[in-house]
Amino acid sequence: MDEPVSDYVAGRSCASCTMCCKLLSIEALNKPCLQWCTHCDIGAGCKIYQERPTECRAFTCGYLAEAGIGEHWKPVKSKMVISRATNGNRIVVYVDADRSDAWRKEPYYSDLKSWSRTAAQNQGQLFVSQGRDMIVITPDGETNLGPVRDDQVVVARRRRRTGYAEIDHIVVDQSDPILAQLQLLQDAEAAKKATPGALAEAKREVEAWLASQDK
Ligand code: SF4
Ligand code: SF4
Repeated sequence: MDEPVSDYVAGRSCASCTMCCKLLSIEALNKPCLQWCTHCDIGAGCKIYQERPTECRAFTCGYLAEAGIGEHWKPVKSKMVISRATNGNRIVVYVDADRSDAWRKEPYYSDLKSWSRTAAQNQGQLFVSQGRDMIVITPDGETNLGPVRDDQVVVARRRRRTGYAEIDHIVVDQSDPILAQLQLLQDAEAAKKATPGALAEAKREVEAWLASQDK
């Protein structure tokens, strides 16, 4: 979506790619994911480059930005676009519907499993966006969360079981007030700073909210 700049990995550029102009949604254009943007000159570039939305200007894919991501991830060949959220702790790999199983092939799958281990160590998350579904990848496996809208977020929740901790993932509307309580329980640093009363209240509210979701 952008022209080569100095902080791109040396030797990498958008060149004849334009994959992000298909795989990602663009809110300002009401463009859904997995459809070519009407302004895209496929394989060449953006026809409204000077006036393109801020979302497009701000986006740099993982292949361009991160030297640790191998050359095999070049989007025009892999048919996948790596997006890292602004806090850096959440990675989404968007997969072209024409090659929806591409992420399961090697060497991609081994990379994803390796990144999931790093994410788990850093309280991060790794997702594959396949079709309309969001799949969370963990060191132990994967869970299909189903469709996740742009105005929703996925919150990881650690639950104590006898002898082990289990993590499940919950899809929440960004506007839902329960999000703050879920995030308090998820964020180890925030939880350490919170009073016991605030934590207990957060747990009560979250349990009640989860029970209401099961109805
Ligand atoms: S997917 Fe990456 S390399 Fe391809 S056009 Fe978008 S930003 Fe450039
Ligand atoms: S406006 Fe341009 S840069 Fe943005 S998605 Fe469309 S073609 Fe790509």
